Amino acid sequence: MSKIIKLSPHIANLIAAGEVVERPASVVKELLENAVDAGASQVTVEIRDGGMTFLRVTDNGCGMSPEDARTAFLRHATSKLKTAEDLACITTMGFRGEALAAVASVSRIDLLTRTPSADFGTSLSLEAGNITEESEAGCPVGTTIIVRDLFFNTPARMKFMKSDTVEGGKVASAVQMQALAHPEVAFRFLRDGKEVLSTPGIGSLEAAVYCVYGRDSGKMAEVSSKWEKFTLTGFVSKPTDARPSRALQTFFVNGRPVKSRLLIAALEEAYRNQIMVGKFPACVLHLTTPASAVDVNVHPAKTEVKFLNEKAVFDCVHYGVLGALNKTPDRPQVQFKPTPAPAAAPAAQKPASAAPKQENFFRTMNAQEYKAFASAMKDAPKPSALAAAATARAVDARASLPLQESVHIPTPVQKPSAPAPIQEKAAPAPVPQQEPEQIAIATMPTDIPWRYVGELYSSYILVEQGDEAYLIDKHAAHERILFEKLKANQEAISSQTLLTPIPHRMAADSVALLLDNQSVLEELGFEIQEFGENTLLIRQIPMDLDGEHATDALETLAEDLRNGRKGQKDSIRDELLHTVACKAAIKAGWQSSEQELLKLAEQVLSREDLKHCPHGRPICITLSKKELEKQFKRS
Ligand code: ADP
Ligand code: MG
Repeated sequence: MSKIIKLSPHIANLIAAGEVVERPASVVKELLENAVDAGASQVTVEIRDGGMTFLRVTDNGCGMSPEDARTAFLRHATSKLKTAEDLACITTMGFRGEALAAVASVSRIDLLTRTPSADFGTSLSLEAGNITEESEAGCPVGTTIIVRDLFFNTPARMKFMKSDTVEGGKVASAVQMQALAHPEVAFRFLRDGKEVLSTPGIGSLEAAVYCVYGRDSGKMAEVSSKWEKFTLTGFVSKPTDARPSRALQTFFVNGRPVKSRLLIAALEEAYRNQIMVGKFPACVLHLTTPASAVDVNVHPAKTEVKFLNEKAVFDCVHYGVLGALNKTPDRPQVQFKPTPAPAAAPAAQKPASAAPKQENFFRTMNAQEYKAFASAMKDAPKPSALAAAATARAVDARASLPLQESVHIPTPVQKPSAPAPIQEKAAPAPVPQQEPEQIAIATMPTDIPWRYVGELYSSYILVEQGDEAYLIDKHAAHERILFEKLKANQEAISSQTLLTPIPHRMAADSVALLLDNQSVLEELGFEIQEFGENTLLIRQIPMDLDGEHATDALETLAEDLRNGRKGQKDSIRDELLHTVACKAAIKAGWQSSEQELLKLAEQVLSREDLKHCPHGRPICITLSKKELEKQFKRS
């Protein structure tokens, strides 16, 4: 066997670099963490060519003395652990005094730094970790680090780099992540000379979220809840603003960004039956736990996390988000396209609402745009303001209500053809089982009088309430009401026995699937029986269906079972309930009596849980008086 040799510090640094410095984005992450640790209130990141050739981070933090500047690049040099007790911080913060040494070993670095008490700053240059130049320099308080030619001396690593666009995109995510973790710091990010992100650094997470996620995520719902020893704060998108991917889901545990299937599952559980298939909520959630409740992988470059009590964490996030969603009205505004500016108008008169032109990988708002956006949001009526106004006006306003007769809710009429009578009494709001006390489900004020105006296109109910008009999709509303009614009934769904059982021929595998799942079908109100070749005999169907729709529903159920997440009985049951509700609900284009429509409108306006059809389409959209006045140029 060969003789054991001790690795040179340079080789040791290269090995460490392999772990810490994977790509430009990981360099940026480390430098940003250092800037924040140095107490900076303003941090600017600039990159060229995806960060491979040039990457600069400038902060106005505490800076370094000349000696510290030199030592900072030594391996295991850190100012953040002074005593043995501080070692505990390693588990939470990942200080290992390794990052600068690792970055320096695989790049060329220029450092400029000054502490507030020093008259002069220090300028240092390093190549592959060795100091090549050192001098005094005039510079502002704080630190600027330029990293050039990353991996110039490790061609093997260079080969793993993706295109500049991809690497630049990852750097952008790293900056976004820090901006969301530290709303108190103003971050700017410039990519090839163009500013693509800037946050105001005013300490408001909401402000940071809007700057990072842009206006596409809409007005988000604020989450703030406590659960046992856990605290959850942050913002989540409303179901109607769901995104095509999970890209805008950001989780922090005790301030560290983490990736966790558990947290994603808990978040998405809160959106069950409210969001379309293939759509995902956006979020920025900060979970705070006692240090002993998590096992953070101490590796600074990794973001996995293990919770000791997974159920409590799941519940904390699930119910915290659910509570936030239930408190937030979700009646999207009718969208008008911005009026095009008259041809002769000077460019400066472009509508303020036009989206900024960006050829970027993500859409963001800069701090100024955010301010405009935030003040526009402020004008929007808040539920609490509405509630206060409502209490004040409720009683006498009712008396002076014009067309009061139409507000009176008559008994629903039974229509001879299919549609099921709409439930007399509002079904109870879907209350999650074992719902924790912490969550107050707020309801929208129901005492602002409203007026049924009419129906549009045999599909949309038009209602006026105060300074808002609502358009209610009658099918979506009825479907949701039926769905909630079916769901609230945890036992079997009441069924009707057919006088003449219906034979129904279908694909052989559908017959087999349905027969295999008879107990599920029974819970849903179906009784079926084998009836010769590829045929089922339908003996009982749910109360709310007629024969023709029952066979349709069975076909869909077979399809659901075929695609269904077999293990999750609740999900299958929900899927089946969607199908039953959808088939039984009145359809767009059908003739409906005014009484039926009134009854639907009444339920939609009085129950905040009726926001989306079970597939996630909105039930009700808002057309405000203000918006109309704007369209007619009255305001
Ligand atoms: P760690 O952050 O784990 O301490 P680093 O290698 O990232 O290790 O940094 C080493 C030391 O350099 C830090 O402990 C800090 O004292 C100093 N340092 C690094 N970046 C900055 C900065 N931007 N401003 C002030 N001091 C810094
Ligand atoms: Mg560090």
